[in-house]
Amino acid sequence: MEPVITRFAPSPTGYLHIGGARTALFNWLFARHHSGSFILRIEDTDQVRSTDQSVKAILDAMEWLGMDWDAGPYYQKERFDLYEDHLQKLLNSGHAYYCDCSPEDLDARRKAAMAEGRKPKYDGRCRDRGFGPGSHRVVRFRCPHGGTTVVNDLIKGPIFFDNAELDDLVLRRSDGIPTYNFAVVVDDITMNISHVIRGDDHVNNTPRQILLYRALGEPLPSFGHVPMILGPDRARMSKRHGATSVMAYREMGYLPQSLINYLVRLGWSHGDQEIFTLQELVEKFSLESVGKSASVYNPEKLLWLNAHYIKESDPEQLVPLLKPFLESLGYPPKDPHYIARAVRTLQQRSKTLVEMAESMNFYMLDEITYDEGAAKKFLKPGMVDPFQRLVEALEKAENFDEPALEKIFERVIVAELNMKFGKVAQPVRVALTGGTVSPGLFEVMAVLGKNIVLKRMRKALAYMQQEGEN
Ligand code: GLU
Repeated sequence: MEPVITRFAPSPTGYLHIGGARTALFNWLFARHHSGSFILRIEDTDQVRSTDQSVKAILDAMEWLGMDWDAGPYYQKERFDLYEDHLQKLLNSGHAYYCDCSPEDLDARRKAAMAEGRKPKYDGRCRDRGFGPGSHRVVRFRCPHGGTTVVNDLIKGPIFFDNAELDDLVLRRSDGIPTYNFAVVVDDITMNISHVIRGDDHVNNTPRQILLYRALGEPLPSFGHVPMILGPDRARMSKRHGATSVMAYREMGYLPQSLINYLVRLGWSHGDQEIFTLQELVEKFSLESVGKSASVYNPEKLLWLNAHYIKESDPEQLVPLLKPFLESLGYPPKDPHYIARAVRTLQQRSKTLVEMAESMNFYMLDEITYDEGAAKKFLKPGMVDPFQRLVEALEKAENFDEPALEKIFERVIVAELNMKFGKVAQPVRVALTGGTVSPGLFEVMAVLGKNIVLKRMRKALAYMQQEGEN
């Protein structure tokens, strides 16, 4: 088999969206699976709509997702000489011709065709007029009139196109800019692309591109068109179904591996397996297992996957990912190992990094504030005595790990005071965290450490004593 070379070829007219990222992922996995290469190409011939900012946004998103490329990014706007060479080849061999029709004329003829119930395609007026170059002239492809072009699609199977239905498409516009279909073919030829894997919104372009390969005397790559992504209402996925930008998911606290795992299952499957490591994906990915029908975007499943990956991650590795969220909440900086220990207590209960960062407030802030209702309900004068005894016992504690803390509570609360642990658990939780929901009490105490725990217990004591006086 020829070496596998795939490419991702986004147009930089906006951020990288979910659909584009999935196309990139399928190309990336296919290349990695076959130990081939993956090329990144920026299709920026549309100089009005393309922006540097979009290029950067796309590259950032690719990097965040961990899809590395072996060559590129290539920029189409730097490759005009190459398009020109190939255009000359087609002109010289008679496969292309100059067309003199003005946009107004074309428009009028298109309208007339439609009024007569004919297909509004170019009528071939300039095909045999033998025009040479001219500043207002476009170059068109001389599309064969008869016959059928077959796209042997690796995903959809053979698709037949009647050549008579295809236009004499424009290859180079009058402003000198090559059109998408032409530039893509020249690039895919010169980059030795073996497999073109892209969204099925391009399926109608493929027969046109195949005819161009033939006219240039070049072998065809294999084509695979991936069905589109729909919203839950089965309309094409758009913003109203949820965020469509890859980076919006980062901002919402998703891990890149959650998104990768989610995206691959939008169209590809391997039995009923849902969770895949990256290495498993590289091993198992094939185009044969990409479904023929559209897939439906399901935000709950993505959230479920994210919760899974947060649970499974090494806490030390979550710290750098969590950092921007901690900063945006204005928490003071803390030692990364301390943060990792706090993270460990929250992994089971956080679905996103945003959720995790928010619930870390009592670990990160030096001074906590009580939830008003919780303080009123639990920090009652009746707790003064148990709190005083606990403070005394904790002051003496040499070891502040979970088993040691559990023993202290057993002794002071259960043995000495003959109280149920449950009676003091919520008051202590409010004292340490400000609220009534947190990870296990001893876990929290072990992470906070002796000094902070004692400080907060004493503060709660003061609060209760003051409440008692009022
Ligand atoms: N630039 C095209 C797009 O963004 C992709 C072209 C291709 O993959 O052939 O849709």
